[in-house]
Parts: sequence; C-alpha cells; structure tokens
Amino acid sequence: MTVQTQFFTSDEAEPVVVENPLAKGRVLLVCEHASHTLPARFGTLGLSEEVRKSHIAWDPGALAVTRLLSEALDATIIYQNYSRLIYDCNRPPESPSAMPVTSEIYDIPGNADLSEAERFARTSALYIPFHDRISELVAIRDDVVLVTMHSFTPVYYGKYRDVEIGLLHDTDARLVDAMLDDIAGTDFRVGRNEPYGPEDGVTHTLRLHALPNGLLNVMIEVRNDLIRNEEGQRAAADFLSGLLTKAIAAHSP
Ligand SMILES: [Zn+2]
Repeated sequence: MTVQTQFFTSDEAEPVVVENPLAKGRVLLVCEHASHTLPARFGTLGLSEEVRKSHIAWDPGALAVTRLLSEALDATIIYQNYSRLIYDCNRPPESPSAMPVTSEIYDIPGNADLSEAERFARTSALYIPFHDRISELVAIRDDVVLVTMHSFTPVYYGKYRDVEIGLLHDTDARLVDAMLDDIAGTDFRVGRNEPYGPEDGVTHTLRLHALPNGLLNVMIEVRNDLIRNEEGQRAAADFLSGLLTKAIAAHSP
C-alpha cells in the first residue's frame, strides 16, 4: 500500500488564480508574491505570526495595485495564492531562494534540510502549474505585454531605500526605456533596475516568458509603505497605468 501525502487539503484554495480572463487589453499582469498564506500541511514553518505576514512571505499591497491596474488597462491577472516561503515562483527550482532557508534577517526552520522529494513536491504543486498557466495566457495572442507586479520593503538589512518605484528589465529594455522617457516631473522617485536587478536573479519570470517570445516586458517594484492603504494603491496604479499606456503606444505600429 502506498500512502500519498496530499499537498493541499480538499478545502484549500487552488494555487493559481486567474482574474479577468476575458480581458481585451494586451497587458498580462503577473503577481508571484500576492499572498502570505501557507498550505495547512506546513504549519507555521517555525515562524512567528508577525514574520509569517511580513515582506519575506509576500509582497504587501502588490495584488491590490495589480487589481486596480487590471481595471484601468482591461488586463488579465494571474497570481500565486500561496507564500513564496514555500516556493518563490519568481525563481527556478535550482535556485537556493526558490525554497529559502533564510530570508533577509530571518531563518526559516521549516525550510531547513529539505529532501529531494519535498523539493519536487513543492515545485510540482506550486511552480509548474503557475508557469504553465502563464504560458497558456501568453499563447492566446501574439502581442502580449508581460508586466510582473511586486512590492519591496522600505528598510532592508537595516538600510533605508530612497527609490519608490523600480522598473526592472533583463536584456530587453524596450518597454522600460519608453517608460523612463516619460517620468519627468512625476511625483514618484523611479529607478531603473532598483532596488535590485537582473544580477540578483529577480527576472526569472521575464526570462521564462517574455524574452523567448519577444514580448514587451517590465517587472515593476513599488515600495510597500506607499501602498498600505487604498489611497496609496490608487495613486500608484494611476501613475503606472498612465506610464504603461503611453510606453506601449510608443511601441505599437
Ligand atoms: Zn516580489
């Protein structure tokens, strides 16, 4: 007899969520770090509730801004429903940060000494279906613009970050170049490949889906203290939807 351990209990939510699937806009919004939820089988991972709900577990405010962008741009959203502490869907399975043993200043006891079987189970349950679904959504039309949405902590390893919005790219900077052409006089401090960039391994989703398909793309990072409430979320979404609309138009025939 084999005993198969279920990854999710029968009443747990699906890991991959697609919203506004019939949207008519070109933009596909991806939010890998939308949720701090841990599947029940993982308990607390040995972390306090405060840490389990902190920026190491998810990108606070990112999904809220993504939903406002979806309305403004008539864009489909795909997001991951479980915490990046179990599997970080913006990292390939071989990356140490895919199932991190430490994150910033925190040890994650539940991720110490993972077996190959456990790593495979997490990859199969969370990473593969997420990226398979993105591949399907990208294949629906030939002019998809891939926009991944994130938030970052204002204080990292005790150091304050001045930048408010980061526009990140890998080897294809077309969309970011056009967005940065248009930011003079705006209210936000915007940086290219800040507060980190492709050298930190953060452009995995862009590398998987945008670069091989020649899609216009950007990874957007918003400092999370600016999007703690609806007013801030709306201000960020208004700014970004305007920026994206003009930059995409600049690249359209
Ligand atoms: Zn993120």
